[in-house]
Amino acid sequence: MTTSSTPDPNTSSVGAALPRVAWIGLGIMGSPMSENLIKAGYPVTGFTLEPEKLERLAAAGGTAAASIAEAVREADVIITMVPASPQVEAVAYGPDGILENARDGALLIDMSSITPGTSIDLAAAAREKGVRVLDAPVSGGEAGAIEAVLSIMVGGEAADFDAAKPIFDVLGKTIVLCGPHGSGQTVKAANQLIVAVNIEACAEAVVFLEKSGVDLQAALDVLGGGLAGSTVLARKRGNFLNRDFKPGFRIELHHKDMGIVTDAARAVGAVLPTGSVVAQLVASLRAQGDGGLDHSALLRAVERLSGNEV
Ligand code: NAD
Repeated sequence: MTTSSTPDPNTSSVGAALPRVAWIGLGIMGSPMSENLIKAGYPVTGFTLEPEKLERLAAAGGTAAASIAEAVREADVIITMVPASPQVEAVAYGPDGILENARDGALLIDMSSITPGTSIDLAAAAREKGVRVLDAPVSGGEAGAIEAVLSIMVGGEAADFDAAKPIFDVLGKTIVLCGPHGSGQTVKAANQLIVAVNIEACAEAVVFLEKSGVDLQAALDVLGGGLAGSTVLARKRGNFLNRDFKPGFRIELHHKDMGIVTDAARAVGAVLPTGSVVAQLVASLRAQGDGGLDHSALLRAVERLSGNEV
């Protein structure tokens, strides 16, 4: 049993070397991230909506739980990686949710990308239940999750950040405490603004280059080595070249993130002229039925605007 109401999650309360982790949300990101923790020796119990993802967790050495309550009851650290604010609220609150069923002193790390306000509210509600919270959204995509090189932007208390750091070190490479609760989400919103605008610029360049009759592969090779090079270009060039829009990061989720950054910027009086245009292009793709495609499918929006058949 625990000896303190705020145990260090890096020392298990039952004497094992590593804390017990509950992982809620085993999707494109959550599955490989939780598997990296299992590979590092953490005992991981998971819950998610798709039975096949629970089977995948068990095959990787984790334990499949039948409910959120069952997953979190014994956990020292609870990690959530679900689509958006409504899902975070659904898994956190209510009689079957995390806060009602977590033990006193547990650390809840929400790695989903959600509104900063939801993170701030969650931290306040959790405090009343004796649960500590960090918002810790990530950047780096599915590949970054698999390769454990994510950027992790964290909001919350410094002591909780220090306690969570060994876990973050397993999942990512660039890990920064950005400020109080919600700060991680604010930085993530800025991240999504930069990524969307960067993809849009690349997509416009691809259509321009192809219509000009230039060899696209050669062009992307040389562009990638100069100031125009970016992680976006490096990671998405294959998607552009092969018109392969299997997600990855779904347009649906980027649409959600463009809404978050637009609202958050409006609240502080920051004006995002280019971001607003790109947000509309993302919304247009979604409205045309491309919401399930990777965000590199912004290329399809530019092609449509340029009169290409897609
Ligand atoms: P996903 O849709 O692939 O996975 C979400 C998972 O959440 C699913 O497995 C689903 O079963 C689970 N879930 C939803 N509601 C639930 C509930 N009530 N109880 C239990 N489980 C529930 O999404 P993803 O691509 O893994 O993204 C997850 C989060 O990470 C999002 O906030 C996204 O914006 C962010 N993100 C994604 C990427 C990426 O490249 N995919 C990169 C960075 C950040």
